[in-house]
Amino acid sequence: MNLYRGCTHNCVYCDGRAEGYYVEGEFGCDVTVKINALDVLRRELDPNRKRTAMKPGYIMVGGGVGDSYQPVEEKYELTRKTLELLSETKFPVHVLTKSTLVKRDIDILKKINEKNNAIVSFSFSSTDETISRIFEPGVTSPQKRLGTISFLKDQGISCGMFLLPVIPFITDTKEVMEKTLQDAKEIGVDFIIFGGMTLKEGRQKEYFFDILQRYYPKYKVEYQMIYKDSKWGDAIHEYYDQLHLTFNTLMKQYKIPKRIPPKLFKDILCENDLVIVILEHLDYLLKLEGKKSPFGYAAYSLSQLKVPLSTMLYELRTIKGVGKTTEHIIQEILKTGTSTFYERLLKDEI
Ligand code: SF4
Repeated sequence: MNLYRGCTHNCVYCDGRAEGYYVEGEFGCDVTVKINALDVLRRELDPNRKRTAMKPGYIMVGGGVGDSYQPVEEKYELTRKTLELLSETKFPVHVLTKSTLVKRDIDILKKINEKNNAIVSFSFSSTDETISRIFEPGVTSPQKRLGTISFLKDQGISCGMFLLPVIPFITDTKEVMEKTLQDAKEIGVDFIIFGGMTLKEGRQKEYFFDILQRYYPKYKVEYQMIYKDSKWGDAIHEYYDQLHLTFNTLMKQYKIPKRIPPKLFKDILCENDLVIVILEHLDYLLKLEGKKSPFGYAAYSLSQLKVPLSTMLYELRTIKGVGKTTEHIIQEILKTGTSTFYERLLKDEI
């Protein structure tokens, strides 16, 4: 849910700056405030409207093109009012932010958490203060973000770290990542979601290269080698493969879940979605290990089903992509709400 368009946090790597998102004005200075967002949401959530009921799941209050807790929120309180509205519904909420302002809304978050579940995740490119000042000029320091995670955890709220994006050659080094993971472990985050950086041609790339030239000119050639022509701004796959290998190797010491752990969603999702999410997580975890996985394709096939999986317990193998192993895993999830293979993989026990 993007309650604002544009973001004065002004992260240098932000892809909200890319032309494809059509954010108007000067990115980093101008922000569009969706002042009718509450009315629209209230209508969307009205159970009396003639529409297919929304499936149970987390509502994500984040912002791909504008942080929901950026400074303008102090004045407009759109995020606070949205949380108030959501606290009256049965939906759990996942907030993603870089701002300590989220502490202001602890009263509502606790209310949501008592009834359903509330997760607050913070994004970081690392916990290095100097690098953050360069690349995240409008954001509160990593130390303060970590302090807010501590505060929220003390209040009983589950917290994640989105280590995303790590910046090539700057925050993706073994040393910087290791320090960040140590900090995450110390603070007791419930999970880490990891990812590399994209750099789309046009405004995003030009802005990023300006700052790179000013602070890290020696990396310009390396950047040109890994960011070639990609419509989505992806780096070459060799770079991402190496990056994920480094992350996965480091994570073996810390044993922090690399996906949202099932205790946070297994009582929320409907049975088909629960199976799909676990299969997708398995797919991610196995590929991170450099292994092949049939689970992504199976998850996709299951997502096309129109009937509950429990009604076809003995016909699971008729679903495209579901072989013997996947069949057993699905049956276990339907019976117990989870899979032992998955739980062990998630905890790095395999
Ligand atoms: S906080 Fe998020 S949305 Fe805002 S500038 Fe940074 S990356 Fe972009």
